[in-house]
Amino acid sequence: MKFEPERRPLTGETLDSLAASLAERGEKPFRARQVLDWVYKKRARSWDDMTNLPKALRTWLAETYRLMPASLVLNRHSADVTDKLLLELEDRSLIETVIIRAPQDGVGLDHSRKTICISTQVGCAMGCVFCASGLAGLKRDMSAGEIVAQLLQVCYAEDARTPRARSELASFDNIVVMGMGEPLANYDALIRALTIVNADWGLGFGARRITVSTSGLVPKILRLAEEPLGFRLAISLHGATDPVRTQIMPVNKAFPLAKLLPAVKAFTERHGRMVTLEFILIEEVNDSLDQARSLRDIALDLHAHVNLIPYNTVAGLPWKRPSGTRQVAFASILERAGVSVTLRREKGHDIAAACGQLRLKTEREREEAPSGAQVSS
Ligand code: SF4
Repeated sequence: MKFEPERRPLTGETLDSLAASLAERGEKPFRARQVLDWVYKKRARSWDDMTNLPKALRTWLAETYRLMPASLVLNRHSADVTDKLLLELEDRSLIETVIIRAPQDGVGLDHSRKTICISTQVGCAMGCVFCASGLAGLKRDMSAGEIVAQLLQVCYAEDARTPRARSELASFDNIVVMGMGEPLANYDALIRALTIVNADWGLGFGARRITVSTSGLVPKILRLAEEPLGFRLAISLHGATDPVRTQIMPVNKAFPLAKLLPAVKAFTERHGRMVTLEFILIEEVNDSLDQARSLRDIALDLHAHVNLIPYNTVAGLPWKRPSGTRQVAFASILERAGVSVTLRREKGHDIAAACGQLRLKTEREREEAPSGAQVSS
């Protein structure tokens, strides 16, 4: 499922692909780097900003490419230090990009650690029962240019917050591909986008600070392990035994733990870096102490870090967050065994569960609004 726009997004071009297009019209090779410099380093917001390009070239670029394929609909800054950017793509599809500010050590009050959570699909086909993003199914894959555009929009939003000092993407600590969609189901666009994000002619963001999160598409995990750039991997586990995981994540029928865990191990052995197991704690679904013990055994075997995320309620879904006591009892079983574990406490950190709710709400308002009416925030 793809959307074919009239003009290709410039943010989906690599240095080579843009140089090839420019060469076809007789432009010198250095022009491609000059154009991309305007996009990523100088953050031009219009073709006319690109003042060192000949006027005829600017006109051709404007006719051929779309400079920014995602526009900001609203930026919701919440008290728990999460910014949610709601972005509209050219076909009016809505996506969410989230900025999360957290303490460097996970417990302090400084909130100087900054992570960006990006989306890769409009909707999601994976059908995890607790997730707002998957509620309406998959609408379409995002293009590489749309995926990259989210990060430029984050830069624009940060610039607006601190108008005097332009914020560089490098000032963020991490990018997590953990927003709407299953990233590995849109594999080629994902890798192209992350190549652009990583490249020195692109956003220049280190691959080791980029984490790709998957619900468990085993063949694609093995493919990702072979990618030369060496991204980090997180697994949305959410169930430590097959019966529990299948109950909430349909992907477990095709790729049960007996297939998933060896693939994760192969990835770890290939890269020598710790994988993260994401585990959303849902009351009376996966928060039993037996689940904690099974999760402990998996984490020890994989030498994985465990990220426990108390569930964030989604309107229209019945699932609940376990009590604080239950969360701590669950985490203690892992801690006592020496597992590296984080128990998220701030509300805004519940990326996977919370992500998609703003989009869902806005989509519903749009459906209810008379044709042509604008939806307010
Ligand atoms: S949790 Fe992730 S994979 Fe599952 S439905 Fe939501 S977006 Fe898709």
